[in-house]
Amino acid sequence: MADLTIPTDLLPADGRFGCGPSRVPQAAVDELVRLAPTVLGTSHRQAPVRAEVGRLRAGIRTLLKVPEGYEVLVTVGGATAFWDAAVFGLIERRSQHAVFGEFSGKFATAAAAAPWLEEPVVHRAEPGTRPDIVPVPDGVDVQALTHNETSTGVMQEPVRVDDALVLVDATSGAGGLPVDLTAVDVYYFSLQKGFAADGGLTVAVVSPRALERIARIAASDRYVPAFLDLATVVDNSRKDQTYNTPAIATVVLARAQVEAMLAAHGDLDGVVAQQRRKADHLYGWAQARPWATPFVTDPAARSLVVATVDLEGVDANEVSDVLRANGIVDTDAYRKLGRNQLRIGMFPAVPLADLEALTASIDHVVAALG
Ligand SMILES: *Cc1c(COP(=O)(O)O)cnc(C)c1O
Repeated sequence: MADLTIPTDLLPADGRFGCGPSRVPQAAVDELVRLAPTVLGTSHRQAPVRAEVGRLRAGIRTLLKVPEGYEVLVTVGGATAFWDAAVFGLIERRSQHAVFGEFSGKFATAAAAAPWLEEPVVHRAEPGTRPDIVPVPDGVDVQALTHNETSTGVMQEPVRVDDALVLVDATSGAGGLPVDLTAVDVYYFSLQKGFAADGGLTVAVVSPRALERIARIAASDRYVPAFLDLATVVDNSRKDQTYNTPAIATVVLARAQVEAMLAAHGDLDGVVAQQRRKADHLYGWAQARPWATPFVTDPAARSLVVATVDLEGVDANEVSDVLRANGIVDTDAYRKLGRNQLRIGMFPAVPLADLEALTASIDHVVAALG
């Protein structure tokens, strides 16, 4: 069946619908090529690269309406490394984790493994749903939330429920979901999802309270590996630098993307409005098909950036294989979820027209397979 041909007039202009990484717009790649002679292969301690880091930080500040007193940090290693940095440098004694999928679970696991911390409180919800965010009676000093659980397509608005620092993994949500950063102390994300870049870097928007926590733990006698030391991240970021060599292409691609988002939509509200149109199309399409259903039953929890759609009576792997053979790639479900499902990246770099073409292509494939 993989030799089934989707008519070219149905196909999207760009067939990349992965949820990690996002497609990278050709315009950003062109910008990277333009800057290559002066930026790639040059020192990250010199002006050309630092200017790119500075523009990235400024673009994020504008897009996310970063409150007065908050700082935009850039560090090496992606969200996975940032969890370890937070275990060393942000959790003082005990954290609570809202766990509703693979990624939120990994941070909880990292905190549980640290012998200098108390056992974290884990507040779990079934995949496809989200837990309530609740205070802990005898106290935690970090509330670990996830803006968008990429493995399941569930989003959760960050809220502050107690005095703990609110840490939000926004790797797939940032730049595509609304956020009020006054309710957040550390909003951190890798750049290969909403910001359509390559992997390897993390941006963290940190509040004055979080900066104070970082400084206090760094000054304590807790051992912190140099690579994960957030106080060093703060010092370097203030100079538009990183502790060790960053992925320079990632900086340029993300800078190009954040500036493109601002140029196209004005601000985050404009981007989010477009995300809503895309999500309405995708979920509306699924609901109108007898063989498809949005996996997330609560409409308010359905992600605006990652759509998960269960199929019935048709094999999702077979559909994804046919799509792949026709140049539409990475529509597979999250591997560990084990459902008969399509998972579709609707990140800001994916235009509505391509999602419309995608659903028309899936209709064609399902009709042909049936
Ligand atoms: C992709 C993803 C991560 C992991 O990001 P890396 O840059 O690969 O470490 C963490 N959290 C969420 C929510 C993600 O979507």
